[in-house]
Amino acid sequence: MNPRIEVGILGATGMVGQEFITFLEGHPWFDITWLGASDRSAGKPYREATNWRLDGAMPASVEGMHVEECKPGNAPRLVFSAMDASVATEIEQAFAQAGHVVVSNSRNHRMDPDVPLLIPEVNPDHLKIIPLQQRHRGWKGQIATNPNCSTIVLAMALAPLKQFGITRVMATTMQALSGAGYPGVASLDINGNVIPYIAGEEEKMQRETQKILGDFTGDSIRPLAAKVSAQCNRVPVVDGHMVATSVELEQKPGTAEFIHAIESFSSLPQERKLPSAPPHPLIYLTEHDRPQPRRDVERERGMTVFVGRLRECPVLNYKFIALGHNTVRGAAGAAVLNAELMYSEGLLD
Ligand code: NAP
Repeated sequence: MNPRIEVGILGATGMVGQEFITFLEGHPWFDITWLGASDRSAGKPYREATNWRLDGAMPASVEGMHVEECKPGNAPRLVFSAMDASVATEIEQAFAQAGHVVVSNSRNHRMDPDVPLLIPEVNPDHLKIIPLQQRHRGWKGQIATNPNCSTIVLAMALAPLKQFGITRVMATTMQALSGAGYPGVASLDINGNVIPYIAGEEEKMQRETQKILGDFTGDSIRPLAAKVSAQCNRVPVVDGHMVATSVELEQKPGTAEFIHAIESFSSLPQERKLPSAPPHPLIYLTEHDRPQPRRDVERERGMTVFVGRLRECPVLNYKFIALGHNTVRGAAGAAVLNAELMYSEGLLD
């Protein structure tokens, strides 16, 4: 029997909020019963409060729902958060204090030492920090976060390499327009162009990767000691962040062993058959010119990271390309899979 769990969305009217609504349509466990946004939207039916910007029509199940202010009280216990970062810190904390389970996309709490920065296939054990979070902060509820949309692509591709001892990583991104939200980058700036700057992105990729690949020590998360250097670029692609990566490993595997580590990577979400878990979190593409955003990013419901073009690197050990769907694996899909793992761990009881 599938569970039926009511969920709310904080910031439901924004771009990521809309991604949540789309991703959760027909979900076997989660039913959207509550939508929250700013006081500009509160009191209006969702169809009036929202400038729907995703492909296809707004789902009929939410059109007539009334948007509420983001205050704890009426919302269900489990809330996904896609709020503007300028307000997410206090509002997410207020919900956790009031007993809600907040599964957040916003950057605000990602680097808090007692908050898991979770990728269910990579660091499910980081959820063990939650009881400490609750004890330290006196919360009945909890906050868990998912990584930044380019970090998640890099961290997933690196996860199976941890066994070889990662010492240095250099990552250069080509990031899609949808990562900048709506209306995002002006068309005159990005048409036929590349913008070699995304505010705060490089620092996030460097620090978040170390935290995600770090170890839970019993009372804290010790970041991976590897040095990570990121360079982030916005490119005229609609969906899909590519990360050109070079990596140095303590015990350099052969090429076949490297590819086998990628292809055989599987973890708790696959074992537990969580509804949003892709059968293969990583897929290695052998064609010399893949992965490509337009051809590959929608495959596997946007939840798989594609790796290709493995070559020897004359500076570090190996170089390769990784590609992931930034608004699915990098946002709504990531958070929904986090909540599924939390349910399977008994954290929603
Ligand atoms: P957005 O389109 O600007 O949406 C922001 C949402 O926050 C709207 O629902 C807005 O409601 C709500 N909000 C604003 N002020 C509020 C307040 N005072 N109280 C309650 N709600 C308030 O932004 P977005 O692109 O969806 O991004 C949302 C969050 O996800 C950000 O923290 C962002 O960094 C993060 N994120 C984005 C992406 C992406 O691909 N875009 C990826 C990963 C993470 P109103 O409509 O009522 O103003």
